[in-house]
Amino acid sequence: MGKIVIDANRCKSCYLCVSTCPKGLIKKSDKTNRLGDYLVEFDDKNNECIGCAMCAKRCPDMAITAVYK
Ligand code: SF4
Ligand code: SF4
Repeated sequence: MGKIVIDANRCKSCYLCVSTCPKGLIKKSDKTNRLGDYLVEFDDKNNECIGCAMCAKRCPDMAITAVYK
């Protein structure tokens, strides 16, 4: 069981993490960054995150930290 923390100050809204998560747990949010692009949010209502850290490794801006609960 895992979870992630996304640093909105680092996120550049490239959405690579969205397509990388095997469980589809990262989605566009309604919050925007300084350029007006939509940030991403972790949406894990059913506790599906496996803590694989693929999202964190894929993020070019090191905006994601994966942790185990
Ligand atoms: S750690 Fe793995 S399962 Fe959890 S949000 Fe990231 S890519 Fe998805
Ligand atoms: S991969 Fe990183 S920079 Fe790109 S949308 Fe995800 S958190 Fe933001």
